[in-house]
Amino acid sequence: MDSFEFNIHDILSKVKKILKARLAPENYNIFVRDLSVVFHNGKSITLKTQNASNVGVLENKYNDMIKEAFSEVTKRNFDIKYTHDGSEAENNSKQNTGLNPMYNFEDFVVWRGNEVAQGAASRVAQYSPELNTSTELYNPLFIYGGVGLGKTHLIQAIGNYARAIEPNSNVYYVTSETLLNEYVMAIRSGDTQNFRKKYRNLDMLLIDDIQFIVRSEQLQEELYNTFNTLKQANKRIVFASDRPPKDLVGLEERLVSRFNSGFLQQIFPPDYETRKAILLKKLEYHTIKPSDEIIDLIALNVTTNIRDLEAVLNRVILTANMTNTEPTIQIAENALRDYIDTPRKKQITIRDIKAVVADHYHVRIEEIDSQKRTKDIARARQVAVYLARQITDKSLPKLGEEFGRDHTTIHHAITKIQNDRKTDVELNQAIETLIELING
Ligand code: ADP
Ligand code: MG
Repeated sequence: MDSFEFNIHDILSKVKKILKARLAPENYNIFVRDLSVVFHNGKSITLKTQNASNVGVLENKYNDMIKEAFSEVTKRNFDIKYTHDGSEAENNSKQNTGLNPMYNFEDFVVWRGNEVAQGAASRVAQYSPELNTSTELYNPLFIYGGVGLGKTHLIQAIGNYARAIEPNSNVYYVTSETLLNEYVMAIRSGDTQNFRKKYRNLDMLLIDDIQFIVRSEQLQEELYNTFNTLKQANKRIVFASDRPPKDLVGLEERLVSRFNSGFLQQIFPPDYETRKAILLKKLEYHTIKPSDEIIDLIALNVTTNIRDLEAVLNRVILTANMTNTEPTIQIAENALRDYIDTPRKKQITIRDIKAVVADHYHVRIEEIDSQKRTKDIARARQVAVYLARQITDKSLPKLGEEFGRDHTTIHHAITKIQNDRKTDVELNQAIETLIELING
């Protein structure tokens, strides 16, 4: 494996998945779920557990299994060490980092729309002068995208991870609004000296929602100087924003160019499959498990962002919990109603349509797709094409692909059925019935 591609967060997630399948849930939850990586190099990996008494059990009882899982995922053999450093945890909590420890890489689902941002974040988080990893290109890291897409989660995960490997490193997370308040207070109390000192001595500065910086010219000036100091000292700087620097109206030109000087990356909304994966990930932390059908329904309807997905899922679980029932479709539809006007039903695929039509005409699905032209098969095929056009929003060429025909044949089938329906009462009846069957 190329060390450049070595993404320890991905690896740990995969290892946990394997172990989850092999261990009894209680044991998994007690010993494995909270493990995090505090150190790794090409030969050894140190895992931290929250519970001091777990260390011995991990070493004696689970080490082989954990080692095995790491080697399955990485195709390498690592020495695995376990630690629980109480004093470290105490230190951690003493220093105010502004971080919420809940945000970590393990729970961050990666998809095509955020994988580049996650990869860069992971690189910045793992930065350590001793390991001599080159992250210069990622300094500053500037992540932008719409609300609820995981910007805060990701930049806080960077801070938490950096603190896990280097407990004494001086990491600070702040939103630009809080920063502005702090700055205003500092000016009022004539204490800007301390404000400067605090920010210029950081090892890692994470500023969230940087878009609000445009509200103060003075703060922009201050940030510009802080930025230069940190950057020169090779300290890490990460920004999250709702839009790219060039669209931040009122942002000084020199800051635009500083923000652009490192790695700029957008996060895009998740697709349907990813939305499902996110919901399933969130369910790992719940004992009430809605059915696949409910998960589908939520994933299909909540297209906006992850925050909304979580909100609907939580509503379903809470409602089920309060009424002491299993989550029902009814509950899910009610929860969805606050987010969208009319929940769509489960998405209907061409395959569903072919199946229902094949069944009705007593032919096999493969025959619909075949070149056979016997009367029943030809009719079933035309009806399936016609219904596919009516029910889905697929174009003629797309339907051509689905049925293995060119688009003129598709067009012909559609007009044929359209015309026949006008005179053929039986066909008309059949189509009505089929539509009902397909829509469930
Ligand atoms: P943003 O800062 O972009 O508005 P947040 O980081 O606050 O979004 O994310 C909103 C919610 O969605 C949070 O609860 C966060 O944990 C969750 N979330 C966002 N992205 C992911 C992801 N990739 N995997 C799992 N949960 C995510
Ligand atoms: Mg945010």
